[in-house]
Amino acid sequence: MFNLILFGPPGAGKGTQAVKIAKEYNWKHISTGDILRAEVSGYTPLGLKVKAMMEAGHLVPDELLIEIMESVFLKHQNADGFVLDGFPRTLNQAEELDRMLLKIGQKVDLVLALEVEVDELAARLVNRALEQGRKDDTEEVIKHRLVQYLHHTKPLVDYYKEKGTYREVYGVGTIDNIFNQLCSVIKS
Ligand code: AMP
Repeated sequence: MFNLILFGPPGAGKGTQAVKIAKEYNWKHISTGDILRAEVSGYTPLGLKVKAMMEAGHLVPDELLIEIMESVFLKHQNADGFVLDGFPRTLNQAEELDRMLLKIGQKVDLVLALEVEVDELAARLVNRALEQGRKDDTEEVIKHRLVQYLHHTKPLVDYYKEKGTYREVYGVGTIDNIFNQLCSVIKS
């Protein structure tokens, strides 16, 4: 089993690349944002709890994410690997992920970060708001999501650098070109 974290700020292109990587290697793509959005549109108790937080661009509490990930790993015990997209987003989540994987004899094998400049990110997020009508892609919420990333998620770079699993790829260019670069790091 191979466990890959696709890392980077909102708008870096994690979702697009995660789908392609999962297809290429037959790994399971897990997007916590997609899981949460499905809960919201299904009006489930979890969805009702997180709707306002997501629409404001806040992070959803760690306990809820950890519960979600525990059930994901339980449900896909026979997977060849995972591409995690949007998780972990806090140090606590990263530590819990290590614990969860250790319990099933696994570890985080690689953290691949997509590097994109802040101006480019903001422009992409505004575009996505127009194209997909995501409620958390208004200008004010976009700013808040980027700030949340800088405060809570970016510190994970050091966490994974220390573990020696962190690699970076420049996330501006064509989708296929970026994908090829990601694949060559995975192969190495
Ligand atoms: P995403 O589609 O990954 O940008 O996620 C959309 C929203 O879902 C985020 O802005 C958060 O509100 C919530 N979310 C997704 N993943 C996480 C996570 N790992 N921790 C906390 N909140 C999350």
